Amino acid sequence: MIKDTIKQILTKTESIGSEITVEGWVRTKRDTKEIAFIALNDGSCMGNLQVIAEKNNISEETLHRLTTGASCAVTGTLVESPAQGQAVELQASAIEVLGDCPSDYPLQKKRHSFEFLREIGHLRARTNTFGAVARVRNALTMAVHNFFQENEFFNVHTPLITASDTEGAGEMFQVTTLPFETFDSSRGIDYSRDFFGKKASLTVSGQLSAETYATAMGRVYTFGPTFRAENSNTSRHLAEFWMIEPEMSFCDINGNMDLAEDFLKYVLSYVLENCKEDMEFFNKFVQKGIIDDLKAVISSEFTRISYTKAIEDLETSGKTFEFPVSWGIDLASEHEKYLTEEVYKGPVIITDYPKDIKAFYMKLNDDGKTVRAMDVLVPRLGEIIGGSERENRHDVLLDKIKAMGLEPEDYWWYLDLRKFGSVPHAGFGLGFERLVQYATGMTNIRDVIPYARSAKNCEF
Ligand code: ATP
Ligand code: MN
Repeated sequence: MIKDTIKQILTKTESIGSEITVEGWVRTKRDTKEIAFIALNDGSCMGNLQVIAEKNNISEETLHRLTTGASCAVTGTLVESPAQGQAVELQASAIEVLGDCPSDYPLQKKRHSFEFLREIGHLRARTNTFGAVARVRNALTMAVHNFFQENEFFNVHTPLITASDTEGAGEMFQVTTLPFETFDSSRGIDYSRDFFGKKASLTVSGQLSAETYATAMGRVYTFGPTFRAENSNTSRHLAEFWMIEPEMSFCDINGNMDLAEDFLKYVLSYVLENCKEDMEFFNKFVQKGIIDDLKAVISSEFTRISYTKAIEDLETSGKTFEFPVSWGIDLASEHEKYLTEEVYKGPVIITDYPKDIKAFYMKLNDDGKTVRAMDVLVPRLGEIIGGSERENRHDVLLDKIKAMGLEPEDYWWYLDLRKFGSVPHAGFGLGFERLVQYATGMTNIRDVIPYARSAKNCEF
């Protein structure tokens, strides 16, 4: 039989009077002359179960060992709690210490800086904040699958090892079994001797493979790890992150924007509905007012503007930006934040970017200068989604591949999708950690994934 978690017990007023055994870790212990009050947590929720240990029932030695962080099994009677904010508490008849926790346990204080907690990545999930992040992340995972399944998308598992560079940006981690020891730089690298017989890397996006399934099954999505060797030490970039990528046949950029907007509203509503306790914690301690902010986003209509309009907005803002603004630049995070936080005060979808700053697969507009890209920007973060309608004309795509200095032979199968029954199609990529950041208000992306990987950082 699976035992009840503390989350279940805390709401079980119908079990009042029955004898139960509960396991968990001691968060705090407070003593009076006759009684010890132990706050027990098992990670199932933010709340603790209050254990009442009367000193004539529980030995002095046992109570002494129940320090912060120690694990134990408590048997006792569930009783109605006289204390405020909790329905029940546990009147202990026996306590077994499962694991002692000596005084060098790093989580003694009530509050620690996130910087400090990053150095103890193996323990930080035992704090309120990181437990809450993990639970919200879990709920968001569920919400993502629910949304797509309810909308008749098929989940496909695209490969992590690939021979093509989706973004053409060269930020890939190479995968090789060639021996470094015998490498002779004067002779170059003979990839035919490598494991795959050619150069291979970890994927930066599942999109190209997702397109092969979208052009067979209509609507698909991927949800898996992606890797980018970007040396940018920002609060919103990781070297290993999870990406959600829907891809739809018979869909243009407008349908794609509608999907992105519906999707964000759905998953945010799901979290507000299913993670009330954790969201109240974030609302109070991490990002004041986030619950109302998210509710406003859910009931708003996202602003949709072209890149050209966005540039005009920035140019006429009268603000001095660190990166100067002119038509053709890639928007920097300061520009994105200005547009969402100050001009439009909410999510903004920007479309029709200059073709030179976007990937080769985006559909060229009739002006010959811009592509049907769509980025979704949100306050606090900037870009959360990047997507586009895909170039579905074989010859235009071929020219684009050549013009960008890529090898058409590497994309023969991708070009085939435009040769055999080509259809208009579109999709986007959403960085899952950015979504967790946005939903929780956590400011650093390294704090919303269990083990962050970034440049010079691969501990735990
Ligand atoms: P940015 O300009 O912020 O680096 P990008 O233009 O490189 O983003 P895309 O290639 O469009 O991003 O990827 C799609 C989505 O994946 C982004 O909108 C973002 O949510 C997420 N993403 C991209 N790079 C990273 C990263 N290094 N770490 C975490 N998430 C990322
Ligand atoms: Mn990037």
